[in-house]
Amino acid sequence: MYYSNIEQFKKLSGYEIDGTWYPRVTKIVEIKAKPALYKFYADLNSFAEGESIKEKSASEGTLIHEAVEKILLGQSPEIDPSIAPSIEAFLEFQNKKNIQVDPEYVEKQLVNYDDRYAGTLDTLALIDGKVGVLDIKTSQAIYRDYNLQTSAYMAALDKQYPSLQTRWILRIDQNRICQKCNATLRSKGGRDKIRPPKIKIGVNYEKCEHRWSELRGEIELKEFPYWQEDYKAFLGGKKLWEWENEYWLKQAGYI
Ligand SMILES: [Zn+2]
Repeated sequence: MYYSNIEQFKKLSGYEIDGTWYPRVTKIVEIKAKPALYKFYADLNSFAEGESIKEKSASEGTLIHEAVEKILLGQSPEIDPSIAPSIEAFLEFQNKKNIQVDPEYVEKQLVNYDDRYAGTLDTLALIDGKVGVLDIKTSQAIYRDYNLQTSAYMAALDKQYPSLQTRWILRIDQNRICQKCNATLRSKGGRDKIRPPKIKIGVNYEKCEHRWSELRGEIELKEFPYWQEDYKAFLGGKKLWEWENEYWLKQAGYI
């Protein structure tokens, strides 16, 4: 990423809070290489196509985030038809799990004054009798990289929220399943992607003339209680990010 001036850098990389600028967690964790991204781009026709898919997919993710956060606050938002299966699955899951949130901590801006960074928390939640950070993802899987981000939220909240016990990733997604071979079809960012069945049934996947089901929502909740080692890795990444952005960070008065 190249920046043309300090104001642009500060705006894209951090938050101004009470007159002080802090880098943001999601920007810092971008320093970590993601080899799967190379494969993603290699499968496409152009770099621009990849950017367009990522952008569309991010706005679909935002729609789901906004709807779920409103539902968690007890509201009944209007649901865009494109995300209806995801939201239905979430409602069913929420009912079953009886997820409670602290309204003060939905889309809450967090600052770690000691280690000097800021971020926006999706929510604090009460699930299965425990209080923890809940981060919502709309990806096709739960990736270990997410633990870097949520460890930074844990560390920022640790001192000010003593009852904090754990953290979760809540993954919300939607896809179709082949009724003949169990393959899945996922449409994200304007692109259709077929994936081989996790459990093989009936027809050979490679030869199957797929028969797709209706869109169905998919919910996965995973707990990651131990965050201290992830946090050490986050701080290591932060150091590297600072090294890479030294030119701008000096201008921002951060280093
Ligand atoms: Zn099939």
